[in-house]
Amino acid sequence: MLIIPCPHCGPRPETEFVYGGEAHIQRPDVAADDYTWANRLFLRDNVKGWTRERWRHDPGCGRWFNLCRNTATNEVGQSYIMGAPKPPFPNQKI
Ligand SMILES: [Zn+2]
Repeated sequence: MLIIPCPHCGPRPETEFVYGGEAHIQRPDVAADDYTWANRLFLRDNVKGWTRERWRHDPGCGRWFNLCRNTATNEVGQSYIMGAPKPPFPNQKI
């Protein structure tokens, strides 16, 4: 079981969280063409390794936040609130 660090409540078991998909997806301009909108709505990177994801602490604080997670090893990294700068992945040089 994953232990996910909610930035508001602290570490909790993964059963308290709802996965929200890839983080930091930019909304295109309203006048963007269909191809751009299709990419925004349906295409994701599907990274093998470290990625940033959106999670919601459903029965806890109820807030959305971002989490660094390694999709290959299921290792959990740093969590951070929405709007905060992206932290580096573990073992990543800046
Ligand atoms: Zn929380």
